[in-house]
Amino acid sequence: MRELRETMKQFHKMLKAGVTAWKIRRDWFGDSGVPVSPELAQQRADICLKCPYNQEMPVWELFASAVAFAVKQQLKLKSELKLRVNGEENLHVCSACLCVNSLKAWTPLKFILEYTEPEVMDSFHKEEPECWILLEQQEQQNLQHDNKDQRISER
Ligand code: SF4
Repeated sequence: MRELRETMKQFHKMLKAGVTAWKIRRDWFGDSGVPVSPELAQQRADICLKCPYNQEMPVWELFASAVAFAVKQQLKLKSELKLRVNGEENLHVCSACLCVNSLKAWTPLKFILEYTEPEVMDSFHKEEPECWILLEQQEQQNLQHDNKDQRISER
């Protein structure tokens, strides 16, 4: 009986750890829970590295405690998943959206677009038109446009 209780306790512990890990992934990568490819993350990081908005900031003072805790968990998971880009030590915080660039580089565009405030998108447009978020958004729109044209021409 004691053994069964121990096994159940272990099982609940594992289940809880699994749910927590999934929550961290979902908060970082969106519903898919899957990061973008290393090639795309590197491409994005290379743009951030040249961007004046990539600012060294005291991350833990910048974020309220709950957000700082979430960022810390995501950074821990990032290290466990070995998600690294070249030049990472010079990736800081984006002063336009206050995101941690080494984390955001791995986030699917769909999730970024869903959660970026319109004012922040506007500031990217005005201040940093070379931002990879805008470039990828434009590519996505072009693709949708091309697909629509193709469907019309196939009718
Ligand atoms: S504006 Fe775009 S490119 Fe510049 S630091 Fe922010 S996310 Fe990176």
